[in-house]
Amino acid sequence: MSRVFVAVAVVALLVGPSTHAVAPVAYRFRFPEPQHHWMQVDATFPELGSGPLELRVSRSSPGRYALHDFAKNIWDVHAIAADGSELSVARPDPSGWTVPNHGDAVTVHYKVFGDRVDGTYLAIDSTHAHINMPAAIVWARGLDDRPSTLTLVSPKGVQWQPVSQLHRGSSPFELTAPNLQYLMDSPVEFGPVSVRDFMVDGRKFRFSAHHTGTASDLEGFVKDVEKIVRQEGAIFGEYPAYEPGDYTFVADYLPYAFSDGMEHRNSTVMTSPGAIRTHRLELLDTVAHEFFHAWNVERIRPRSLEPFDFERPNMSAELWLAEGFTQYYGPVALSRAGFLDLASFAAEMDELVAATVLAPGRDVRSAEEMSRMAPFTDGGTANDRTNWPNTVISYYRYGGAIALALDLILRGRTEGRVSLDDYMRAMWRTHGKPGATREGYVDRPYTIADAEARLAEVSGDPSFARDFFARYVHGREVAEYAKLLLPAGLVLRRERPGRAWWGDVSLDHRGGGLRITSPPLANTPAYASGLDLDDEVRQIDGTRIDSAEDIQAVFRRHRPGDRVRVVYVDRTGRALTTSVTLAEDPELEIVPVETTGGTVNESQKQFRRHWLGAAK
Ligand SMILES: [Zn+2]
Repeated sequence: MSRVFVAVAVVALLVGPSTHAVAPVAYRFRFPEPQHHWMQVDATFPELGSGPLELRVSRSSPGRYALHDFAKNIWDVHAIAADGSELSVARPDPSGWTVPNHGDAVTVHYKVFGDRVDGTYLAIDSTHAHINMPAAIVWARGLDDRPSTLTLVSPKGVQWQPVSQLHRGSSPFELTAPNLQYLMDSPVEFGPVSVRDFMVDGRKFRFSAHHTGTASDLEGFVKDVEKIVRQEGAIFGEYPAYEPGDYTFVADYLPYAFSDGMEHRNSTVMTSPGAIRTHRLELLDTVAHEFFHAWNVERIRPRSLEPFDFERPNMSAELWLAEGFTQYYGPVALSRAGFLDLASFAAEMDELVAATVLAPGRDVRSAEEMSRMAPFTDGGTANDRTNWPNTVISYYRYGGAIALALDLILRGRTEGRVSLDDYMRAMWRTHGKPGATREGYVDRPYTIADAEARLAEVSGDPSFARDFFARYVHGREVAEYAKLLLPAGLVLRRERPGRAWWGDVSLDHRGGGLRITSPPLANTPAYASGLDLDDEVRQIDGTRIDSAEDIQAVFRRHRPGDRVRVVYVDRTGRALTTSVTLAEDPELEIVPVETTGGTVNESQKQFRRHWLGAAK
């Protein structure tokens, strides 16, 4: 087949039987006063049928699971008919405006405020506009399949450049999207960006930075990014077909940015107050995490998130896999790319394991149930107090710990022939790769049963897969990490053996003592003694307490198992006494065996090479 013929056939497929291409929704963003953090939006909705035009503002944003109610920052809304007359508008609920009677087209004008540089919100200032679409656009119900155009107009006197995964339009300041899902998933950085390109295996990658560093800082950093891109490509064996023709890293490393990273289908937004020169490893860690998402969650996608619903919270029981496995692979990729030594990698794993093994939350919720908490915990705010320290474990860490266990178990039972990399590749082959017939959508999202079936395939052992999911995903067991880590020559042990401890109680100075400022964890001596939030500790073991150091000094005189008398004042002002039976500080660490006085043997060295050595 000739190239020309292929092109004709593809065009025929895309256009389909109808010869009339539907007119796009047209957005225009202008910035009359960027220093005051708002933009003027003009949105034209053409070729409307009869019936009310239901204009909506998102309540949720892809990849961040709490509700945000972005309509709170929108004002000065006007709906204008094609003849220029103003149309009457109703307000059916806080997140929408309805135009009951209108002609063929309606143009909506409004202002929107935004002043937070991160992966979810809108940020406008005199240096740039950092635009996450759900926080910025009013859209219309029922027009999900309409393409759209976006025209950006620089503020007076400056020339900004847009960077995005959106398709390039007819001018450098026009971008297009094939449908609403894709538009919403496509943040735009509009500012003084520096862009560097590189190619890997025939795929083009762009790194765009709005930052305070130098060109050579960026040059060197992008070389490191490329190493990560190569190592993660090797895990899956190939890169996805990025629809705009390339994948774009959108970085804002600015003193006034918040630390964040957000995955999108063909791009990621990475924001940080840190600079390349001072926070290199931290920034690379975000690169490694977010780029892994181009497979895991953007294309290997749980059915519960497909398609994303912009009007309600999106609950998923699979975030332990979508986020947790990604959390695990960040440090793995950094190690393989040569940026983490073994001790640093082990310390990262120790965070995942300790957060899961030691947390009382694992007695009350499974990894699936933790995932379902995301609408409250991921970007959500609570005015009232919560008991989350006792009932919630981050699905990032919980899922990361599950990934570590599964990788070690698979390697252990096959002498290194099968690993979690094979599992991720199987998920990609079945659920990710075949699913891109409609841009912005995933054709074959997975269920928990699918995830278990892929493990059965990869391990060749359905009963192993069933057992693993029953224990660690549906159930609340934790793997035997100490045993699993030994073949890699890593030791899991108590970090402060023999140290007397009453819990990681957070304290704040107040009045005549120290006030407890977070709920003591249910599995600690402090909790068992009846102490709780707002109690003021005055005396321990006869010693007057004025600082956290005073408490540690008392505990240093004691051993685990000793009882100490605590005098405190509760929130009503009553003076009370209780006794605390001190335990051994349970804090864990994972360290290379050679740092413990042991020696690493040949098979452990080989295990490490296969696990954390460079792929090429
Ligand atoms: Zn993530």
